[in-house]
Amino acid sequence: MSEKLVIAIDGPAGAGKSTIARRLARRLGFLYIDTGAMYRAVAWWALQRETDFSDMHRLGQLAKEARIELLDGGSRVRLNGEDITDRIRTQQMSEAASKVSAVPAVRRALVEKQRAMGAAQSVVMEGRDIGTVVFPNARIKIFLDASAETRAGRRLKDLDATGAASTLDQVVREIRERDERDSSRATAPLRQAPDAEYLDTSRMTIEQVEEAILKIYRDRTSNGKELPK
Ligand code: C5P
Repeated sequence: MSEKLVIAIDGPAGAGKSTIARRLARRLGFLYIDTGAMYRAVAWWALQRETDFSDMHRLGQLAKEARIELLDGGSRVRLNGEDITDRIRTQQMSEAASKVSAVPAVRRALVEKQRAMGAAQSVVMEGRDIGTVVFPNARIKIFLDASAETRAGRRLKDLDATGAASTLDQVVREIRERDERDSSRATAPLRQAPDAEYLDTSRMTIEQVEEAILKIYRDRTSNGKELPK
């Protein structure tokens, strides 16, 4: 059996992780895994069930029981058989996901699912803790970043596409709050792994970011084949 490769991409909201990860996965023939969508799915279910967000035990149970499927190259999300893709992309769900993701039992349950996905085939996995917690031994780790204004501008575009009305100021505020919560939580905070490459995408095109990561990929593997340790 050939060795499975993991490309771990972490970074704050709006840094371009999903766009880049999806493109890389397509180009390399890997599976794209959006771990943020998994936290969003659990948050959505918890809201549907009117779960108290301070009930950590219950939230952990839901995360464990959740049957999350990422379909169509990672562009659609199904929870317990139901397509919830469009429902989890709202501002409210971003905030709810950020809250449930601070619960250790939720993280334990989802990390287990993520590791199983990465063991089954080569993946491009993006999130906040992929290079630090989920796959600390991943050969290729990228930390994508951009200025808060750039990231808010990108988020605003996504939100506009869904028809939600927001101002840039509002989105900047929301993104800063979420980054602060994601970076300061006790369990698996957003942090760059020591062996991750840092890329500031503020002034880069998608193509430039993709090429930069492909170069790192080639450098850290022997043109796609893992080098002996
Ligand atoms: O990436 P996305 O914005 O969809 O993630 C939603 C939220 O899920 C993040 O703000 C973060 O709190 C949480 N998350 C996480 N760990 C991951 C991926 C997402 O805590 N690996």
